[in-house]
Amino acid sequence: MKILANDGLAPEGVKMLKEAGYTVITEKINQDQLAQAINEENYEILLVRSATQVRKNLIDSCPGIKLIGRGGVGMDNIDVAHARSKEIKVVNTPAASSQSVAELVFGHLFGLCRFLPDSNRMMPDKGSSEFEMLKKKYSKGIELRGKTLGIIGFGRIGQAVASYALGIGMKVKAFDTYVASAGIPVHIEGIDPVSVEISTRSFEEVLMSSDFISIHTPAQKDGKPVITEKEISMMKNGAVLVNASRGGIVDESAIDGALKSGKLKGVALDVFLNEPSPNAELLKNPGLSLSPHIGAATAEAQNRISLELASQIIETFQHA
Ligand code: NAD
Repeated sequence: MKILANDGLAPEGVKMLKEAGYTVITEKINQDQLAQAINEENYEILLVRSATQVRKNLIDSCPGIKLIGRGGVGMDNIDVAHARSKEIKVVNTPAASSQSVAELVFGHLFGLCRFLPDSNRMMPDKGSSEFEMLKKKYSKGIELRGKTLGIIGFGRIGQAVASYALGIGMKVKAFDTYVASAGIPVHIEGIDPVSVEISTRSFEEVLMSSDFISIHTPAQKDGKPVITEKEISMMKNGAVLVNASRGGIVDESAIDGALKSGKLKGVALDVFLNEPSPNAELLKNPGLSLSPHIGAATAEAQNRISLELASQIIETFQHA
């Protein structure tokens, strides 16, 4: 069978598939030429990440497709129900990227605590002429250890974030609309993982008592943000907020206002409304720590994703 991995596939997964007899092509085909290429080359399996759109018209134009695989979690770029109605199997890799997203969250948190995003913007310009001014500007850093991290959405990634937080000595308070409690493993080299049981709290308690808040919910069914001006007004003055879930889960204009007024000390964003063309004005806010949707973009996560997809493909077609 022929596989088109249109947004790439890490070498480990390609190797596993080739060894199982599949042909794997990782060359990127433009969206407008995709249907024609799939039909001409007889691809039966289409693998994507978040860039390639697998909409109804593409699915209808390519009757040979038997499986669509999404390397990652969110399937917003695939018309899943439509594909399944045509008996096309649709799979994703929900667990593979949790640890990488959690580490990115901490990259942003540590950076914001010491003003690193702004300091990196200012140093090339003013570092050699106004060193003392910048030193004073960034002199009021804070530590994470001992502070409270609020986690909104206590699923796979929320729990991975909790594990790192506990590991560096933070207190964790979590809210989830479904999960009541979870045993969080804390990994300490040389001893068996310690499990810490965390029971979730009310939304209000997490918002009102956390020094740092990280959001890990999926896009909401009604399309509305989880964090708006109202929720921000309930947060501690000077709180720090991170959104590495989905663009629009935090209301972007509310963030801009809260940073400008000083209500929030810092905000980290890995995801944006209107990706890949986020609001240019918002990006200029000096209180922001920014990354272009790279939560799962580590060698380790991409390897796990490729192996998880390869296993699912091999399992699906082993008796075909
Ligand atoms: P998950 O399904 O394991 O967990 C999500 C949790 O959120 C669930 O427990 C659910 O009950 C809870 N939830 C839903 N709505 C809620 C609400 N309004 N308030 C509180 N809790 C709510 O998902 P996951 O694997 O942890 O992924 C979380 C998010 O991270 C998703 O939006 C996913 O798309 C995103 N993600 C981002 C990146 C990145 O590159 N930045 C990578 C992978 C996943």
